[in-house]
Amino acid sequence: MKVLVINCGSSSLKFQLIDSESESCLAKGLCERIGIEGSMITYAPEGGEKEKNVTPMPDHTEAIRLVLEALTNSKTGVVKSLDEIGAVGHRVVHGGEKFAQSVVIDDEVMKAIEECNDLAPLHNPANLIGINACKALMPKTPMVAVFDTAFHQTMPEEAYMYGLPYEYYKKYKIRRYGFHGTSHSYVSKRASEVLGMSYENLKIVVCHLGNGASVSAVKHGRCVDTSMGLTPLQGLIMGTRSGDIDPAIIEFLAHKENKSIDEIMAVLNKKSGVLGLSDNLSSDFRDLEEGYHKGDENAIRAMKTFCYNVAKYIGAYAAAMNGVDVICFTAGVGENAALVRTFICEYLGYLGVKIDQEANGKRGEDTVISTIDSKTTVMVIPTNEELAIARETVKLL
Ligand code: AMP
Repeated sequence: MKVLVINCGSSSLKFQLIDSESESCLAKGLCERIGIEGSMITYAPEGGEKEKNVTPMPDHTEAIRLVLEALTNSKTGVVKSLDEIGAVGHRVVHGGEKFAQSVVIDDEVMKAIEECNDLAPLHNPANLIGINACKALMPKTPMVAVFDTAFHQTMPEEAYMYGLPYEYYKKYKIRRYGFHGTSHSYVSKRASEVLGMSYENLKIVVCHLGNGASVSAVKHGRCVDTSMGLTPLQGLIMGTRSGDIDPAIIEFLAHKENKSIDEIMAVLNKKSGVLGLSDNLSSDFRDLEEGYHKGDENAIRAMKTFCYNVAKYIGAYAAAMNGVDVICFTAGVGENAALVRTFICEYLGYLGVKIDQEANGKRGEDTVISTIDSKTTVMVIPTNEELAIARETVKLL
């Protein structure tokens, strides 16, 4: 079966058409900077040339239309018609407690996903737009939702409870859920495969650093803690999200700026993170790295604060697991920004981390970036959420 996997993020959309029998990727691509000036689509059929087109993408609907057009294009497409695609697997960010597993999408599921919109205001609406756009263009093709929250369901109570009145958990299921679960699961397993070591024997910290960012502690094959919470707003400083802050800041700012809670939440989700820290220079680490090298103080502040924050979480999770064997970097920033990895690892001397700068300069492959005598192994593992989603989709259908 050919499975189209759609991974709709807040400003990017990754897609892959995967042949589930061979697990090979027939075509893949990326829509970047959706809703931002300079958006572009990259499309690469298997064995063919990569095409990159700068084209306006005001929203995700337009991005998906361009993806389907590329896949069926008479010259560079890999299918003659959309009928050849047997299923679509969608990454969906928040499944609440309702979806602890992947599910075949029907109207009821759509409604339930929509009910989780307020928990993931940057992502669930984008996921739903992706599903609706596919449904409109491929009405008979079965679709599966794979939730980012599922892998973290193994967390113990002491890791997922907040210090709030317990009645709020009972009434509203307010707790830590965690996100990027498909990625944390794939990357931690892949790290053990690459090292040729048993997944069940390793203590792994996965740093998924993209536009959204989270860290997880995977002890003996089970997630025991993760940095995102009820929503993807908690935890690390991200592209535009604040991550952890003193909750009293919300009230303080609402008074000072004469803003509503909704307005403050929009600031925390869309105007904060490295974008806010860099005084609106950019949420994109390519721009921040460039600024850093030029000595731009806004870029330096954003980079340093971000890296310090990640390093603190690694320390917390080493404590949570009573040690750490492997630290993995993944996602857009984790896989590409060597400078970010260097800065983070500079804090990890107490774990015996030593980085091999030549290996740290490599890109796009599973790589051990620590030296042979490093006490903790540090790796870059390109995430493959798409393959993990295709496997889930086929399993359910
Ligand atoms: P993701 O959310 O995983 O797609 O990651 C997207 C983010 O990765 C972008 O916003 C950039 O900040 C970052 N990124 C992508 N490519 C690079 C690169 N070559 N160098 C540094 N950062 C990058």
